[in-house]
Amino acid sequence: MNRRTVLKSMGGLVLSTALPVGSLLAAEKPVLRIAHLTDVHLKNDLGAPGNYVKCLHHVQQQSPKVDLILNGGDVVFDMNKENLNTIDEQWKLTHSIIKSECSLSVKYCLGNHDIWWNENSKGHTFYGKEYSMNQLQLPKPYYSFQQGGWKFIVLDSVHLDIDQTWYIGKLGDEQFDWLKKELETTDKQMPVLILSHIPILTATLMIEDDIVNRWTMLGGDMHTDTSKIIKLFYQHPNVKLCLSGHIHLRDKVVYNNVTYICDGAVSGAWWKGNRRETAPGYGLIDLFADGSFEERYVNYQV
Ligand SMILES: [Zn+2]
Repeated sequence: MNRRTVLKSMGGLVLSTALPVGSLLAAEKPVLRIAHLTDVHLKNDLGAPGNYVKCLHHVQQQSPKVDLILNGGDVVFDMNKENLNTIDEQWKLTHSIIKSECSLSVKYCLGNHDIWWNENSKGHTFYGKEYSMNQLQLPKPYYSFQQGGWKFIVLDSVHLDIDQTWYIGKLGDEQFDWLKKELETTDKQMPVLILSHIPILTATLMIEDDIVNRWTMLGGDMHTDTSKIIKLFYQHPNVKLCLSGHIHLRDKVVYNNVTYICDGAVSGAWWKGNRRETAPGYGLIDLFADGSFEERYVNYQV
């Protein structure tokens, strides 16, 4: 039975028991409407700035109004393939567009392209996560906050692999312990939304070409500690929704009553149209007090 069916049958109840209609209408109203923008990959090229502005305007023209934007990472085009001046320009462009075109509050998550990994640049201002954290004014790469009766947990999925030269998706022990404590100390009635850049669980990786006789998944494409995280969520049924990006494809997987959404990309195929069957877009999500939600993927360019 979906939300609408429940409400319809409750409507019948109103007539027969004369419950105040206002209380039911209030229950139907979402407590928060959020827009999930991920993989913007902003640079001053490929029409990216104009389309990003178009996307931000589209979000702000929604009715009912959006209360909060979650930016799921890969904020700038790519910190690893550009020279230092270009990187700085990409961040400046990000700040100036948000300042002039967006009046909503934005919460950020770090993506792999927001982090400079180049081995030869260790010790450089740009190396690691600190530079982007400063740009985004994040005291820590993972954090939590509460709004509208929901708890939001923003994770840092991107860590160096054991060979220290490239990244994989994981939390690492310190962050995992923090997440465990965070969930333990959250009121069991308070619904939880998790935001990560790399998906914790996704089916999108099975839509790649060139499969010979087995699936290959790279540690950088999906979290490598999925089973550990899912076991933890199982102990906390108030975890309802996990949002991610990274793959630039849109999917929705439900496992143990937790919904995992990989929400496409604002940039589509890095500002060159659709990535496979997924058009450039963002997630629009209504959160309800009882932990339920309604959501859809919005193509802002049509
Ligand atoms: Zn990306």
